Amino acid sequence: MKVPYFDLPAQIRSLRPELDAAIARSLDTCGFCLGPEVARFEMDFAAFVGAKHCIGYNSGTSALHVAMRLLNVGPGDEVITTPYTFVATSWAISYVGARPVYVDIDEQTMNLDPRLVERAITPRTKAVLPVHLYGHPFDLDAIKAVCARRGLPFVEDAAQSHGARYRGRPIGTGGCLAAYSFYPGKNLGACGEGGALVTNDDALAQRARSLREHGSTVRYYHDEVGYNYRMEGFQGATLNVKLKRLPAWNTRRRAIAHRYHELLRDTPLRLPHEAPWAESVYHLYVVRHPARDRLKAHLEANGVGSALHYPVPLHLQKCYAGLGYSAGDFPVAERAANECLSLPVYPELTDEQVAYVADTIRAFKEW
Ligand SMILES: *Cc1c(COP(=O)(O)O)cnc(C)c1O
Repeated sequence: MKVPYFDLPAQIRSLRPELDAAIARSLDTCGFCLGPEVARFEMDFAAFVGAKHCIGYNSGTSALHVAMRLLNVGPGDEVITTPYTFVATSWAISYVGARPVYVDIDEQTMNLDPRLVERAITPRTKAVLPVHLYGHPFDLDAIKAVCARRGLPFVEDAAQSHGARYRGRPIGTGGCLAAYSFYPGKNLGACGEGGALVTNDDALAQRARSLREHGSTVRYYHDEVGYNYRMEGFQGATLNVKLKRLPAWNTRRRAIAHRYHELLRDTPLRLPHEAPWAESVYHLYVVRHPARDRLKAHLEANGVGSALHYPVPLHLQKCYAGLGYSAGDFPVAERAANECLSLPVYPELTDEQVAYVADTIRAFKEW
């Protein structure tokens, strides 16, 4: 049996007539840059998250960059964040000339450890940027408490967690802003690049719209230096088709995760932990073991795709050598990077495929 790590063609095939019609609508209206499909998506996604405003961008990276601009983060400032995430989380901080200040992650949730955040705060700290990693929320109340005590804003990087819940409520409105990505591999993906910010703050929302359109609300009048970060009409159209599916897709991801949990619980693997206050949407199903390279090769040899998220923590990346960190600074993140292995988890995966992945792992003897 073959189990690809991710099967985008299967997802697109299942939606093809609706996607064709949505793209045809965009061609009819010529709404290519923003336009009516994007406006509709922004309304519906805001409702999905339970936020007052949603602003669409051309990528999640752009949305995060604008979030840093909105908080007036700039040269000389520090932003506290996690070293264990996709690099774009840190790009946002670097793009505005500020310094990413890493603190280690929590062993259970793999997210920024709230206890360590407080100790990293200095007079230069301007904001905190935690990530809801793998679809599992970070401890919002704990982060909120630290930030409130020290008068700091925080931005949620929700690029991997569309629809995840914290104490029963959707994440995305706990801080002043939350950033989403609609990269095709995410739980909600466009047919191309896309991203969004959500917020309940009217003033932030207005400036967030202006910054994506050259810092302008009235054409050819520019209030501040902005960007061309508009979401494309085609992407709004494809996202409108897919957003309707998202709740069912997330339910299916959770069912697959629970099935893996049953089938793998008595293996030497360390399985993902779901905190009692969390409802993960399992963007990734990441198991851990020191022999993960051998296990990965064994899976590959038996037709099962897998991946690493993430093999190198950000403080050890070449691009951030200038920050002055070294190996051993964040032992929890470093150990995770050496042990992590992402198994296939996507709505199109069949029960037979899930069972085959588990059987293949159980047949592995070189732990
Ligand atoms: C995907 C991702 C991003 C970047 O989103 P793009 O749309 O690819 O620019 C940022 N942060 C995290 C945690 C991500 O997973």
